[in-house]
Amino acid sequence: MAQFYVTDLQQSDTNEKAGLYQFLATFSDKTKARVFYTKNPDWKITSITRLLTVPCPICRKDYFCNCLERFSDTIHNEIVDSGLLPE
Ligand SMILES: [Zn+2]
Repeated sequence: MAQFYVTDLQQSDTNEKAGLYQFLATFSDKTKARVFYTKNPDWKITSITRLLTVPCPICRKDYFCNCLERFSDTIHNEIVDSGLLPE
């Protein structure tokens, strides 16, 4: 998979005091993933968990895999470039 297009990012759970943020990300191919962020003070992805709604875009498994974790930098850049993170 060459490029991830994040089309939507919804904040789903937040602990601002601890700087912990959880988002539901939707990709252009309908893949959905829970993205765990810390903000301290810069945004950093700590973990990505793909939801099992559609097969993995990378390995095509329809059960749990860690593929998206390997692309967390790419996904983060994509999210930042699209201005999807809250202020
Ligand atoms: Zn996979």
